[in-house]
Amino acid sequence: MICYEIERVKDFEGFSVTEIAANIEIVKQRISAAAQRSVREAGDITLVAVTKTHTVEMIDEALRSGITYFGENKVQEALEKLPLVSEPYAGFHFIGHLQTNKVKTLLRLNPCLIHSVDSYHLASALSAALDGTDKVQEILLQVNTSGETSKYGIPPFELPAVADAVAKLPNLKITGLMTISRLCDEKEDCRQDFRLLKALFENLRQAGIRNLDMQWLSMGMTDDFEIAIEEGANIVRIGSAIFGERNYY
Ligand SMILES: *Cc1c(COP(=O)(O)O)cnc(C)c1O
Repeated sequence: MICYEIERVKDFEGFSVTEIAANIEIVKQRISAAAQRSVREAGDITLVAVTKTHTVEMIDEALRSGITYFGENKVQEALEKLPLVSEPYAGFHFIGHLQTNKVKTLLRLNPCLIHSVDSYHLASALSAALDGTDKVQEILLQVNTSGETSKYGIPPFELPAVADAVAKLPNLKITGLMTISRLCDEKEDCRQDFRLLKALFENLRQAGIRNLDMQWLSMGMTDDFEIAIEEGANIVRIGSAIFGERNYY
């Protein structure tokens, strides 16, 4: 009996491993150039590789190619993929809309940062789920800067009150803000959303709310991350520019 070994997969979803590594290099160079334009250093910007819809092999390849953090937007998908990742990584970021009935499952996956806390209701569910533990979960408040009804996020005018209330919840620490910019034909149209988030960020920082540690401004994706960095982003969440187009099933 002749048993041939299965050929090692080199082509994930039509996308080769070398391409992932090369794309990461290109993205890093673009981040670095944008950081310089905003008088910062590349090292000040944290890149989160968004691996939603992609395979565990692609996550491993990204981690081998210099990615430190990756982001997923669905609890179920993260639950299936995370235990299979074989490369070491610093931490997993949760970036998607979170339903309160998924909170406990997500927390078991130990996300190092949840970007998408978009209501007091959700924050209190997270806090309650951690009650009795000594864990402090870092969270960002997601703001709907564009006002589009299709987007999740706290309306800007409600943000100070929500931040104040969430900051009082035990076992949580707000460390910044996140937004998804409007869908725009002209890339430059997104700039106003990033400017607004940065302004809200500075206002909160100066509000002197206890237990609020404004460090992170998570804004910018494949189509607009350079503009976001120019406007002050220090976390960018990038999927397609690294892994290619996503197929949704
Ligand atoms: C999918 C996703 C991204 C990455 O999008 P790309 O355009 O592929 O870079 C970033 N942030 C969030 C919240 C996402 O859901």
